[in-house]
Amino acid sequence: MQASSEWYYQHVLGGLFGQALGDAFAMPAYLTPQDTWEYYDGWLDRFYPAPVDHPNHAGLAAGQVTDDTQQAMALAEAILEDGEVTVIGTARGLVNWYQKIDGDNSSYVGPNTRRACQAIINGADPFTTGTLGDTNGGAMRILPVGLINAGNIKQAVKDTVTACTPTHYTRVGISAASAVASAVAQALVSESSLEDVLSAGTRGAGMGASYGRIWLGASVSRRIDLALDIARGSGSLFEKIVDLHDIVGSTLSASETIPSAFGVLGLAEGDPLSAARFAAALSGDADTAGAISCAVAGTWMGIEAFPEDVIKTLEEVNPGIQFRNIASRLTEMLINRMNG
Ligand SMILES: [Mg+2]
Repeated sequence: MQASSEWYYQHVLGGLFGQALGDAFAMPAYLTPQDTWEYYDGWLDRFYPAPVDHPNHAGLAAGQVTDDTQQAMALAEAILEDGEVTVIGTARGLVNWYQKIDGDNSSYVGPNTRRACQAIINGADPFTTGTLGDTNGGAMRILPVGLINAGNIKQAVKDTVTACTPTHYTRVGISAASAVASAVAQALVSESSLEDVLSAGTRGAGMGASYGRIWLGASVSRRIDLALDIARGSGSLFEKIVDLHDIVGSTLSASETIPSAFGVLGLAEGDPLSAARFAAALSGDADTAGAISCAVAGTWMGIEAFPEDVIKTLEEVNPGIQFRNIASRLTEMLINRMNG
């Protein structure tokens, strides 16, 4: 049975706030779990500003999001403008964002998105600019593609291929992004268990791996299984997080961060606040692992899972993001597509 439009809105809004929560909460983490643990004397217990010596995020305020959330919102706007996911629209949204934040002089734009945006600005065809993208940029922004494809994993993967084309048109990049979009799409089925959501991620990764240019990269779906084995295994929470960091990895590589994000999601039992805390402890590319795990968690649990002060901080510190406006337009679109 189809849920009510209010139910979808609550869960789409949960996805958008989840993306921002995980991104902003984990943004001040250091490169290794031990360094982060020592600096914060344990788990991060609230939003922190980036430490002044942070390699990418120095200067960011407590609660401020990074490129992961900004790009997800830019992609959402492009999809809403065009009424569908298109290569040209995705490229337009990303280039607009890149120019707005002065991407050439920003420390936190990923390598493949930077190269693609610069090439497109210089006149390149966005169908040709993504053939080296084995990093996690396609996956970190893919949330809106999952949101408009509630319960439709096949279409979520198809739209993911399109959205990855300008920057991450490789098997590993598309596979990782498909894992996230598929988990989000499954989270918008009202009777889904967390297991259903996690296994949709593995399934989506497998489906996505047959698209795009063949490129170097381990299997995302098998590494999601590896990360979930670690999450379900023995040891303390922190030991499991160190295992995720050391064995699965938390670099810019799409076959590391996305599986680790699923491991974090499993450890957090689908709770967005726990996922944010664990992603910060994971360290490395923590903001991306946080954005992805919390986006899926927030979509699954809905906006009710977020304390009011968390929502208030995210809205106040990031006034450029119209969370509720975007959520209501995405909800309208997803319902129209379901009734198609
Ligand atoms: Mg980031």
